[in-house]
Amino acid sequence: MAHLLIRGGTVVTAAASHQADVLVRDGSVAAVGADLGALAADAAVEVVDATGLLVLPGAVDVHTHTRVATEAEPDRFFQDSVAAAYGGTTTFLAFNNPGTGSSPAAERSLLAGLKEWRAATERDSAIDYAVSLAISGRMDDPVGELAKIVDEGVATAKAFMVFDFRLDDRRLFDAMRMLGSRGGMLQVHCEDPVLIDTAVADALARGNTAPRFHASSRSTEAEAVATHRAVAFARAADVPVHLVHLSSRAALEQVRAAKASGVRAHAETCPHYLALTAARYETPDVETAARYVISPPLRSAGDQDAMWSGLADGSLDLVATDHVPDRLSVEKAEASRGVPFDRISNGAPGIETLLSIVYAEGVGKGRLTVERMVDLLATSPARLFGLERKGAIEVGRDADIVLFDPAARRTLTAGSLHHTSDYTPYEGFSITGAVRSVFVRGRPVIRNGAYVGTRGDGRFVGRTTAGDSG
Ligand code: MN
Ligand code: MN
Repeated sequence: MAHLLIRGGTVVTAAASHQADVLVRDGSVAAVGADLGALAADAAVEVVDATGLLVLPGAVDVHTHTRVATEAEPDRFFQDSVAAAYGGTTTFLAFNNPGTGSSPAAERSLLAGLKEWRAATERDSAIDYAVSLAISGRMDDPVGELAKIVDEGVATAKAFMVFDFRLDDRRLFDAMRMLGSRGGMLQVHCEDPVLIDTAVADALARGNTAPRFHASSRSTEAEAVATHRAVAFARAADVPVHLVHLSSRAALEQVRAAKASGVRAHAETCPHYLALTAARYETPDVETAARYVISPPLRSAGDQDAMWSGLADGSLDLVATDHVPDRLSVEKAEASRGVPFDRISNGAPGIETLLSIVYAEGVGKGRLTVERMVDLLATSPARLFGLERKGAIEVGRDADIVLFDPAARRTLTAGSLHHTSDYTPYEGFSITGAVRSVFVRGRPVIRNGAYVGTRGDGRFVGRTTAGDSG
């Protein structure tokens, strides 16, 4: 394999930025330093000019609902992995999507679902990837199988406190404890089912069926009380827990209190909570509003400010996308015909816009330093999700590297993106910064803004630990 010398860029780590060259040998970072120029004379070394560019570790997106290939749509998984690469993501974690009716096997058994998912994604990704299994309350014995999935390289799983495939409290607690005792970590979707189911039923009974009632029936209090309970379970079990897609100040306060009292509570937020607000629902056009039917829903400007503060002060550990490749023309099509909000497919695409949004809205607007951004998008997600070779430009780690032009300006449109959805929640966003080139284990996947990778070059990454071990 060719060696690379990335010259003249600004290498960014979670701790500092410095002008340095990066030597890549056999897919790993071999050296980082200001004095590597002499190596450029070596014929076996390809020199990549990074003058004026940031040299970032590739983003690690730990929350996606990419769909596997089917006979009807053979490119779904691959194409979303290409989209991720275009956006500067070099590793993603996918869920196997129980609850969506996508796989009967995944509804019955974690191990059967894992086997099926591994087979369906084998040699199909453009970038490295891993899986986290969603635990459905419809499974016969989801907790009993958890020990075995850690041995299969799946150290995390996601459980829901809401929806008809939620886990009851007993199983939620047992799942958290079982995974934690094996060195893994449960990811929890925190929304209180009683408060939400009641509010949804009340709204529908009153004839309030438009998408904005999706938002008003999922209160920040319902998120906060569920977050509080998940934290209490983690404290009692003395295990780490990961709180997915935090959206509100009220829930963030629960995370702050948990961390202050020594609970190993880790939390993420998502770009849509950072860049959009509930004002998006205030349109008479139900198809437009349906684009933002996401759970938890978009929140107030005050909640958005709280999310940025949480990222800056360490209360939030990372940003992940919660990417759902729904299409207005397919999964959300019924919405344009005015079906009640509770029947609109939940989710929005985001796999390609993670770095773009966090850089432009965060670093570009002075809310985050570029070093903190690298921590939130790469270093912390890799550490907390057991991806020990990922997440930093450091000797010995995988050479997953993004060359990013901080001076570029562009406008996000669905037409300029590559994901398998047919819209972007960020349509028309005018942003700073652009991904120029992306390397995964030293292999070029994006060069000067064009995909140059090979389908199947992305490797499955097994993970045997997750969460802070302490
Ligand atoms: Mn969720
Ligand atoms: Mn999700």
